[in-house]
Amino acid sequence: MLKVLQHIDQIRMQENIELYRTKIDKIDRAVIELLAERKRLSEDIIRAKHEMNMPTEDLERENEIITRLQQHAKDTLAPEFVMEIYRNIFRSAKAAFKEKKVCENEIFKEIKAKKILIAGPCAVESSEQIHTIAKELSECGVKYLRGGTFKPRTSPDSFQGLGMPGIVFLDRAAKAYGMYSVSEITGVYQLEQGFSKVDILQIGSRNAMNFELLKAVGRYTAAEQKPIILKRGFWMTIREFLAAAEYIRSAGNGSVILCLRGIRTFEQIDSEFRFTPDLASIQEIKKLSDLPVIFDPSHSAGKAEFVLPLAKAAIDLGADGIIAEAHNKPDCALSDAKQCVLPSEIGKLAQYIENVNRANQAK
Ligand code: PEP
Ligand code: MN
Repeated sequence: MLKVLQHIDQIRMQENIELYRTKIDKIDRAVIELLAERKRLSEDIIRAKHEMNMPTEDLERENEIITRLQQHAKDTLAPEFVMEIYRNIFRSAKAAFKEKKVCENEIFKEIKAKKILIAGPCAVESSEQIHTIAKELSECGVKYLRGGTFKPRTSPDSFQGLGMPGIVFLDRAAKAYGMYSVSEITGVYQLEQGFSKVDILQIGSRNAMNFELLKAVGRYTAAEQKPIILKRGFWMTIREFLAAAEYIRSAGNGSVILCLRGIRTFEQIDSEFRFTPDLASIQEIKKLSDLPVIFDPSHSAGKAEFVLPLAKAAIDLGADGIIAEAHNKPDCALSDAKQCVLPSEIGKLAQYIENVNRANQAK
Protein backbone atom coordinates (compact mmCIF):
# COMPACT_ATOMS: atom_id res chain seq x y z
CA MET A 1 0.00 0.00 0.00
CA LEU A 2 2.80 2.37 0.97
CA LYS A 3 4.54 1.61 -2.31
CA VAL A 4 1.39 2.39 -4.29
CA LEU A 5 1.03 5.75 -2.48
CA GLN A 6 4.70 6.56 -3.12
CA HIS A 7 4.20 5.75 -6.80
CA ILE A 8 1.15 8.06 -7.03
CA ASP A 9 3.18 10.87 -5.34
CA GLN A 10 5.94 10.43 -7.88
CA ILE A 11 3.49 10.66 -10.79
CA ARG A 12 1.99 13.83 -9.30
CA MET A 13 5.45 15.39 -8.83
CA GLN A 14 6.38 14.54 -12.41
CA GLU A 15 3.13 16.09 -13.63
CA ASN A 16 3.93 19.21 -11.59
CA ILE A 17 7.42 19.43 -13.08
CA GLU A 18 5.92 19.19 -16.58
CA LEU A 19 3.44 21.90 -15.69
CA TYR A 20 6.19 24.18 -14.36
CA ARG A 21 8.29 23.52 -17.44
CA THR A 22 5.41 24.51 -19.71
CA LYS A 23 5.02 27.71 -17.70
CA ILE A 24 8.78 28.43 -17.86
CA ASP A 25 8.83 27.85 -21.62
CA LYS A 26 5.98 30.33 -21.98
CA ILE A 27 7.82 32.88 -19.81
CA ASP A 28 11.06 32.39 -21.81
CA ARG A 29 9.22 33.07 -25.07
CA ALA A 30 7.66 36.20 -23.58
CA VAL A 31 11.08 37.35 -22.24
CA ILE A 32 12.62 36.93 -25.71
CA GLU A 33 9.75 38.81 -27.37
CA LEU A 34 10.04 41.63 -24.83
CA LEU A 35 13.83 41.80 -25.26
CA ALA A 36 13.43 42.00 -29.04
CA GLU A 37 10.85 44.77 -28.65
CA ARG A 38 13.15 46.59 -26.21
CA LYS A 39 16.04 46.31 -28.65
CA ARG A 40 13.94 47.73 -31.51
CA LEU A 41 12.94 50.72 -29.38
CA SER A 42 16.46 51.48 -28.20
CA GLU A 43 17.79 51.21 -31.76
CA ASP A 44 15.17 53.78 -32.83
CA ILE A 45 16.42 56.10 -30.09
CA ILE A 46 20.07 55.63 -31.12
CA ARG A 47 19.15 56.30 -34.78
CA ALA A 48 17.23 59.49 -33.86
CA LYS A 49 20.10 60.71 -31.69
CA HIS A 50 22.52 60.04 -34.52
CA GLU A 51 20.38 62.05 -36.94
CA MET A 52 20.24 64.94 -34.47
CA ASN A 53 24.03 64.77 -34.04
CA MET A 54 23.63 63.89 -30.36
CA PRO A 55 25.96 61.53 -28.51
CA THR A 56 24.46 58.04 -28.83
CA GLU A 57 25.75 56.71 -25.54
CA ASP A 58 24.18 57.82 -22.27
CA LEU A 59 25.97 56.03 -19.46
CA GLU A 60 24.19 58.07 -16.81
CA ARG A 61 20.79 56.84 -18.01
CA GLU A 62 22.07 53.26 -18.25
CA ASN A 63 23.20 53.43 -14.62
CA GLU A 64 19.88 54.97 -13.57
CA ILE A 65 17.94 52.15 -15.24
CA ILE A 66 20.06 49.51 -13.53
CA THR A 67 19.67 51.11 -10.09
CA ARG A 68 15.91 51.45 -10.55
CA LEU A 69 15.55 47.81 -11.61
CA GLN A 70 17.76 46.57 -8.79
CA GLN A 71 15.43 48.32 -6.35
CA HIS A 72 12.40 46.87 -8.15
CA ALA A 73 13.87 43.36 -7.96
CA LYS A 74 14.80 43.76 -4.30
CA ASP A 75 14.29 40.48 -2.29
CA THR A 76 13.81 38.46 -5.51
CA LEU A 77 16.91 38.90 -7.70
CA ALA A 78 20.50 39.71 -6.70
CA PRO A 79 21.65 43.24 -7.72
CA GLU A 80 24.74 41.82 -9.52
CA PHE A 81 22.45 39.57 -11.58
CA VAL A 82 20.27 42.50 -12.66
CA MET A 83 23.34 44.55 -13.49
CA GLU A 84 24.92 41.82 -15.59
CA ILE A 85 21.74 41.22 -17.59
CA TYR A 86 21.25 44.92 -18.30
CA ARG A 87 24.87 45.64 -19.20
CA ASN A 88 24.54 42.87 -21.83
CA ILE A 89 21.23 44.26 -23.10
CA PHE A 90 22.72 47.78 -23.51
CA ARG A 91 25.83 46.41 -25.20
CA SER A 92 23.80 44.35 -27.68
CA ALA A 93 21.62 47.33 -28.76
CA LYS A 94 24.69 49.52 -29.37
CA ALA A 95 26.63 46.78 -31.15
CA ALA A 96 23.78 45.97 -33.53
CA PHE A 97 23.49 49.66 -34.44
CA LYS A 98 27.23 50.00 -35.03
CA GLU A 99 27.26 46.99 -37.36
CA LYS A 100 24.47 48.49 -39.45
CA LYS A 101 25.54 52.12 -39.42
CA VAL A 102 29.29 52.29 -39.45
CA CYS A 103 30.53 53.05 -42.91
CA GLU A 104 33.80 54.51 -44.11
CA ASN A 105 33.93 58.29 -43.89
CA GLU A 106 34.18 59.93 -47.34
CA ILE A 107 36.87 62.45 -46.31
CA PHE A 108 38.94 59.68 -44.75
CA LYS A 109 38.67 57.68 -47.98
CA GLU A 110 40.01 60.70 -49.89
CA ILE A 111 42.90 61.07 -47.43
CA LYS A 112 43.83 57.43 -47.87
CA ALA A 113 43.72 57.73 -51.67
CA LYS A 114 46.20 60.61 -52.12
CA LYS A 115 48.57 62.93 -50.29
CA ILE A 116 46.81 65.90 -48.75
CA LEU A 117 47.74 69.42 -47.75
CA ILE A 118 46.13 71.11 -44.77
CA ALA A 119 47.01 74.76 -44.22
CA GLY A 120 45.80 77.79 -42.34
CA PRO A 121 46.60 79.98 -39.40
CA CYS A 122 47.66 78.66 -36.03
CA ALA A 123 44.62 80.42 -34.62
CA VAL A 124 41.44 81.88 -36.08
CA GLU A 125 41.74 85.56 -35.11
CA SER A 126 38.71 87.11 -36.78
CA SER A 127 36.17 86.42 -39.49
CA GLU A 128 38.08 88.67 -41.94
CA GLN A 129 41.44 87.01 -41.19
CA ILE A 130 40.20 83.44 -41.78
CA HIS A 131 38.25 84.46 -44.91
CA THR A 132 41.31 86.17 -46.43
CA ILE A 133 43.57 83.21 -45.69
CA ALA A 134 40.97 80.66 -46.90
CA LYS A 135 40.53 82.58 -50.17
CA GLU A 136 44.28 82.82 -50.82
CA LEU A 137 44.89 79.17 -49.94
CA SER A 138 41.99 77.85 -52.01
CA GLU A 139 43.32 79.83 -54.98
CA CYS A 140 46.55 77.84 -54.52
CA GLY A 141 44.62 74.56 -54.65
CA VAL A 142 44.48 73.84 -50.89
CA LYS A 143 41.34 71.90 -49.93
CA TYR A 144 41.78 71.60 -46.15
CA LEU A 145 41.64 74.71 -43.97
CA ARG A 146 43.07 74.57 -40.46
CA GLY A 147 42.50 77.12 -37.69
CA GLY A 148 42.62 76.67 -33.92
CA THR A 149 40.04 78.32 -31.71
CA PHE A 150 40.80 76.52 -28.42
CA LYS A 151 44.52 77.10 -28.15
CA PRO A 152 46.51 75.14 -25.57
CA ARG A 153 49.12 77.85 -24.90
CA THR A 154 52.08 77.44 -22.59
CA SER A 155 51.27 80.72 -20.81
CA PRO A 156 47.78 81.70 -19.64
CA ASP A 157 48.66 85.27 -20.65
CA SER A 158 49.02 84.32 -24.34
CA PHE A 159 46.10 84.55 -26.79
CA GLN A 160 43.85 81.58 -25.96
CA GLY A 161 41.79 81.55 -29.16
CA LEU A 162 38.26 82.73 -29.91
CA GLY A 163 36.54 79.58 -28.64
CA MET A 164 33.20 78.66 -30.19
CA PRO A 165 32.66 81.89 -32.22
CA GLY A 166 35.95 81.06 -33.94
CA ILE A 167 34.46 77.73 -35.05
CA VAL A 168 31.60 79.60 -36.73
CA PHE A 169 34.11 81.83 -38.60
CA LEU A 170 36.20 78.81 -39.62
CA ASP A 171 33.16 76.87 -40.81
CA ARG A 172 31.84 79.80 -42.86
CA ALA A 173 35.22 80.49 -44.44
CA ALA A 174 35.75 76.81 -45.31
CA LYS A 175 32.28 76.51 -46.84
CA ALA A 176 32.69 79.79 -48.77
CA TYR A 177 35.69 78.34 -50.62
CA GLY A 178 34.60 74.68 -50.81
CA MET A 179 37.20 73.55 -48.26
CA TYR A 180 37.12 71.08 -45.37
CA SER A 181 37.70 72.56 -41.91
CA VAL A 182 40.23 71.26 -39.39
CA SER A 183 40.41 72.41 -35.76
CA GLU A 184 41.73 71.28 -32.40
CA ILE A 185 39.26 69.99 -29.84
CA THR A 186 40.28 70.21 -26.18
CA GLY A 187 37.10 69.01 -24.45
CA VAL A 188 34.35 66.71 -25.64
CA TYR A 189 31.66 69.18 -24.41
CA GLN A 190 32.70 71.36 -27.37
CA LEU A 191 31.04 68.84 -29.73
CA GLU A 192 27.69 69.61 -28.12
CA GLN A 193 28.23 73.35 -28.53
CA GLY A 194 28.80 73.49 -32.28
CA PHE A 195 32.20 71.87 -32.77
CA SER A 196 30.54 69.02 -34.68
CA LYS A 197 30.49 71.39 -37.68
CA VAL A 198 34.24 70.85 -38.00
CA ASP A 199 35.05 68.26 -40.70
CA ILE A 200 38.29 66.95 -39.18
CA LEU A 201 39.04 67.13 -35.47
CA GLN A 202 42.56 67.53 -34.19
CA ILE A 203 43.80 66.29 -30.84
CA GLY A 204 46.89 68.31 -30.01
CA SER A 205 50.29 67.19 -28.84
CA ARG A 206 49.62 68.23 -25.26
CA ASN A 207 46.46 66.13 -25.11
CA ALA A 208 47.87 63.08 -26.89
CA MET A 209 47.83 61.12 -23.63
CA ASN A 210 44.59 62.54 -22.28
CA PHE A 211 42.98 59.12 -22.46
CA GLU A 212 39.54 60.24 -21.28
CA LEU A 213 39.47 62.81 -24.11
CA LEU A 214 40.67 60.22 -26.65
CA LYS A 215 37.97 57.75 -25.56
CA ALA A 216 35.20 60.34 -25.44
CA VAL A 217 36.07 61.83 -28.85
CA GLY A 218 36.24 58.30 -30.32
CA ARG A 219 32.81 57.47 -28.87
CA TYR A 220 31.11 60.72 -29.91
CA THR A 221 32.39 60.49 -33.49
CA ALA A 222 31.95 56.73 -33.95
CA ALA A 223 28.66 56.88 -35.85
CA GLU A 224 29.98 59.13 -38.62
CA GLN A 225 33.63 57.99 -38.37
CA LYS A 226 34.73 61.64 -38.50
CA PRO A 227 38.46 61.86 -39.21
CA ILE A 228 40.59 62.63 -36.14
CA ILE A 229 44.13 63.96 -36.49
CA LEU A 230 46.08 62.74 -33.49
CA LYS A 231 49.28 64.69 -32.96
CA ARG A 232 52.23 62.94 -31.37
CA GLY A 233 52.94 64.11 -27.84
CA PHE A 234 56.37 65.76 -28.09
CA TRP A 235 57.67 63.45 -25.37
CA MET A 236 56.08 60.26 -26.68
CA THR A 237 57.74 57.09 -27.94
CA ILE A 238 56.40 55.63 -31.16
CA ARG A 239 54.64 52.79 -29.36
CA GLU A 240 53.01 55.17 -26.89
CA PHE A 241 51.80 57.24 -29.83
CA LEU A 242 50.30 54.19 -31.56
CA ALA A 243 48.69 53.06 -28.31
CA ALA A 244 47.06 56.49 -27.95
CA ALA A 245 45.58 56.12 -31.46
CA GLU A 246 44.21 52.73 -30.37
CA TYR A 247 42.19 54.50 -27.64
CA ILE A 248 40.25 56.38 -30.35
CA ARG A 249 39.88 53.29 -32.52
CA SER A 250 38.70 51.03 -29.74
CA ALA A 251 36.17 53.67 -28.68
CA GLY A 252 34.56 53.16 -32.11
CA ASN A 253 36.20 55.56 -34.56
CA GLY A 254 38.77 54.00 -36.93
CA SER A 255 39.36 57.17 -38.99
CA VAL A 256 42.52 58.24 -37.20
CA ILE A 257 45.28 60.23 -38.94
CA LEU A 258 48.63 60.13 -37.17
CA CYS A 259 50.49 63.44 -37.18
CA LEU A 260 54.18 63.78 -36.44
CA ARG A 261 55.02 67.30 -35.28
CA GLY A 262 58.52 67.16 -33.81
CA ILE A 263 59.73 65.81 -30.50
CA ARG A 264 61.81 67.31 -27.70
CA THR A 265 65.39 66.06 -27.58
CA PHE A 266 68.69 67.43 -26.22
CA GLU A 267 69.07 69.32 -29.50
CA GLN A 268 66.81 71.98 -28.06
CA ILE A 269 69.66 73.03 -25.75
CA ASP A 270 71.24 74.98 -28.58
CA SER A 271 69.37 74.23 -31.82
CA GLU A 272 67.36 76.84 -33.69
CA PHE A 273 64.61 74.26 -34.10
CA ARG A 274 61.64 74.49 -31.75
CA PHE A 275 61.44 70.69 -31.70
CA THR A 276 63.48 67.96 -33.43
CA PRO A 277 61.70 67.00 -36.65
CA ASP A 278 60.83 63.29 -36.29
CA LEU A 279 61.06 62.63 -40.01
CA ALA A 280 62.52 59.13 -39.71
CA SER A 281 59.47 58.07 -37.71
CA ILE A 282 57.32 58.48 -40.84
CA GLN A 283 58.81 55.33 -42.33
CA GLU A 284 58.86 53.42 -39.08
CA ILE A 285 55.24 54.20 -38.24
CA LYS A 286 54.08 53.36 -41.74
CA LYS A 287 55.57 49.91 -41.24
CA LEU A 288 53.82 49.46 -37.89
CA SER A 289 50.40 50.92 -38.68
CA ASP A 290 47.90 51.02 -41.55
CA LEU A 291 46.76 54.53 -40.57
CA PRO A 292 47.66 57.57 -42.70
CA VAL A 293 50.70 59.48 -41.37
CA ILE A 294 50.98 63.22 -41.95
CA PHE A 295 53.73 65.64 -40.95
CA ASP A 296 53.62 69.11 -39.39
CA PRO A 297 56.75 71.05 -40.44
CA SER A 298 55.60 74.28 -38.73
CA HIS A 299 55.67 73.11 -35.12
CA SER A 300 58.67 70.85 -35.79
CA ALA A 301 60.73 73.74 -37.12
CA GLY A 302 59.32 76.71 -35.28
CA LYS A 303 60.79 78.91 -37.99
CA ALA A 304 59.21 79.87 -41.32
CA GLU A 305 62.38 79.36 -43.39
CA PHE A 306 62.53 75.63 -42.52
CA VAL A 307 58.87 74.86 -43.20
CA LEU A 308 58.99 74.13 -46.93
CA PRO A 309 62.21 72.06 -46.98
CA LEU A 310 60.94 69.92 -44.09
CA ALA A 311 57.53 69.45 -45.70
CA LYS A 312 59.08 68.32 -48.98
CA ALA A 313 61.41 65.94 -47.13
CA ALA A 314 58.42 64.45 -45.30
CA ILE A 315 56.57 63.88 -48.57
CA ASP A 316 59.68 62.28 -50.09
CA LEU A 317 59.90 59.97 -47.07
CA GLY A 318 56.37 58.75 -47.72
CA ALA A 319 54.20 60.99 -45.55
CA ASP A 320 50.53 60.90 -46.58
CA GLY A 321 50.17 64.64 -46.19
CA ILE A 322 51.28 67.89 -44.59
CA ILE A 323 49.63 70.20 -42.09
CA ALA A 324 51.27 73.62 -42.09
CA GLU A 325 50.61 77.04 -40.64
CA ALA A 326 50.00 79.97 -42.98
CA HIS A 327 49.05 83.60 -42.36
CA ASN A 328 48.38 86.54 -44.65
CA LYS A 329 50.37 88.79 -42.28
CA PRO A 330 52.84 86.44 -40.56
CA ASP A 331 54.45 89.19 -38.48
CA CYS A 332 51.11 90.11 -36.95
CA ALA A 333 49.94 86.55 -36.15
CA LEU A 334 48.60 86.30 -32.60
CA SER A 335 50.18 82.89 -32.10
CA ASP A 336 53.17 81.01 -33.55
CA ALA A 337 54.09 84.06 -35.68
CA LYS A 338 57.70 82.91 -36.24
CA GLN A 339 56.66 79.71 -37.97
CA CYS A 340 53.88 81.09 -40.22
CA VAL A 341 54.49 81.24 -43.95
CA LEU A 342 52.56 83.22 -46.54
CA PRO A 343 49.79 81.44 -48.50
CA SER A 344 51.93 81.91 -51.64
CA GLU A 345 54.64 79.69 -50.04
CA ILE A 346 51.97 77.09 -49.31
CA GLY A 347 51.06 77.35 -53.01
CA LYS A 348 54.54 76.09 -53.90
CA LEU A 349 54.06 73.14 -51.56
CA ALA A 350 50.62 72.44 -53.04
CA GLN A 351 52.26 72.21 -56.46
CA TYR A 352 54.95 69.88 -55.14
CA ILE A 353 52.39 67.55 -53.57
CA GLU A 354 50.17 67.65 -56.66
CA ASN A 355 53.13 66.55 -58.80
CA VAL A 356 53.86 63.64 -56.47
CA ASN A 357 50.17 62.61 -56.55
CA ARG A 358 50.15 62.74 -60.36
CA ALA A 359 53.35 60.68 -60.56
CA ASN A 360 51.90 58.11 -58.14
CA GLN A 361 48.68 57.84 -60.15
CA ALA A 362 50.62 57.30 -63.34
CA LYS A 363 52.49 54.35 -61.80
C1 PEP B 1 48.57 73.45 -33.51
O1 PEP B 1 48.45 72.66 -34.46
O2 PEP B 1 48.24 74.63 -33.55
C2 PEP B 1 49.21 72.94 -32.28
C3 PEP B 1 49.03 73.55 -31.13
O3 PEP B 1 49.97 71.88 -32.50
P1 PEP B 1 50.65 70.88 -31.43
O4 PEP B 1 49.52 70.31 -30.65
O5 PEP B 1 51.35 69.88 -32.30
O6 PEP B 1 51.60 71.70 -30.59
MN1 MN C 1 50.45 76.59 -33.78
